[in-house]
Amino acid sequence: MTKIDVKLKTYLNYINGDWVASEIEETGKSKNPANTEEVVGLYQMSSENDLNKAVNSASDAKKAWRKLSGDERGNYLQKAASILEERLDEVALTMTKEMGKTLPEAKGETARGVAILRYYAGEGLRSEGDVIPSTDKDALMFTTRAPLGVVGVITPWNFPVAIPLWKMAPALIYGNTVVIKPASEAAITCAKVIECLHEAGIPEGVVNMVTGSGSVIGLEIANHPEVNGITFTGSNQVGKQLAQIAVTRGIKYQLEMGGKNPVIVANDADLDLAVEATISGGLKSTGQKCTATSRVIVQKDIYQKFKERLLAKVAEITVGDGVESSTWMGPSVSQSQLDTVVSYIEKGKEEGAKLLYGGDKVRSKALKGYFIEPTVFEGVTSDMTIAKEEIFGPVLALMKVNSVEEALELANDSEYGLSASIFTTNISNMLSFIDDMDAGLVRVNAESAGVELQAPFGGMKQSSSHSREQGRAAIEFYTNIKTVFVKG
Ligand code: NAP
Repeated sequence: MTKIDVKLKTYLNYINGDWVASEIEETGKSKNPANTEEVVGLYQMSSENDLNKAVNSASDAKKAWRKLSGDERGNYLQKAASILEERLDEVALTMTKEMGKTLPEAKGETARGVAILRYYAGEGLRSEGDVIPSTDKDALMFTTRAPLGVVGVITPWNFPVAIPLWKMAPALIYGNTVVIKPASEAAITCAKVIECLHEAGIPEGVVNMVTGSGSVIGLEIANHPEVNGITFTGSNQVGKQLAQIAVTRGIKYQLEMGGKNPVIVANDADLDLAVEATISGGLKSTGQKCTATSRVIVQKDIYQKFKERLLAKVAEITVGDGVESSTWMGPSVSQSQLDTVVSYIEKGKEEGAKLLYGGDKVRSKALKGYFIEPTVFEGVTSDMTIAKEEIFGPVLALMKVNSVEEALELANDSEYGLSASIFTTNISNMLSFIDDMDAGLVRVNAESAGVELQAPFGGMKQSSSHSREQGRAAIEFYTNIKTVFVKG
């Protein structure tokens, strides 16, 4: 934490339609993980009182906002989409500099943000209820939807445009007002998304953003009596803490958390496709996706061939600053994330897994960031830490099995259940995988890390609070059903 430095651009909180400094006049530095000497900008370290003002403004705005038609609310989202589209290159560059993913990935994510806004703008004109026959022939019975009120949004740094938008856009279109606390490591990228909503003329108080420490602002959001629902994406540890508060307060909550996602490669798989997808799913974004491939379970007859092709392709990966067009994989997001990844690699070695590739920080004088080598282990067993815990780094754990049944058993031997893939050309393998895999997202002949904005997304087991985000499924969290009975 530092006092405000006038030489750097300082990003402010957004409360009641105004950009305002935190009351305590403290800022945090957003650093470039690819070049730790570069500070991207300063963001507000806020107090409980700043948060209180934001929630009160959201509460004051909620009545007028819910009285607008869905079409009117949708128009604001449409305008924000167009503004974000115009600013796509700038927002994507900020994302790359702030959290390290490569520029093409950042551009892809920002384009997804535009599409999310447009998709939910359209929701304002879609049906929100059913007509249900009443036992009374003179009555009309139907369901309608009521917004929750003020929704608290707490987001991680790994998708700093898409996740804030796939939470805020449905919250807003269904008539809620929001207060968002973005991850500190990507606070400036989120501020730019909020600028788009501001430039679109969204009414005062409907959207508010307060940056600062998770344990201060995040907890205060959950505890604030005027917050009627919490949507969170992030670690299991924080998610569970928020769930306890929400249960005690009796408010709705939605949690999307970690994963330990398996990919199964059957004997009959298209090997090139499986190799390509394992690398893309496991190592893009430096393995920092909740849906990243982590456990690679390969049937024994093709194991050797798969391993050789995988290692040959991994050796081609270029690690560097995500703004360079030659870079395939950027840095870890922070020193602490890098340390975590390194400590998991050490654990893997200690517990008897065989290191096949990588396994160290990138040691290059030209690179001044948190760079780690793409890493591949083999001989990993399900009792090892690297097979059980989410690493959130570019580490693949190869496991050899005799049959697809054994592969499925291993794949399900996890406390997580977010996403999973199988590579096979055999229809009965596909069907048993679809049936028996305990994951919220199951993909056949496609990488584990693929999410489409119009389809429900969420995990099973410890990966989720068992609610779903995105697509039409979002209506279930952001509204309550009201059953209406009318007799003339
Ligand atoms: P995190 O540490 O849990 O942080 C997530 C958010 O919670 C940040 O805004 C953070 O603020 C805030 N926070 C921290 N401590 C808090 C507290 N005590 N109370 C309330 N809020 C608090 O997670 P992360 O490191 O940003 O993200 C990585 C995790 O997210 C991984 O486990 C990943 O799998 C998961 N993830 C899941 C999905 C999914 O859809 N399932 C998608 C993406 C990521 P600060 O930044 O200020 O600490």
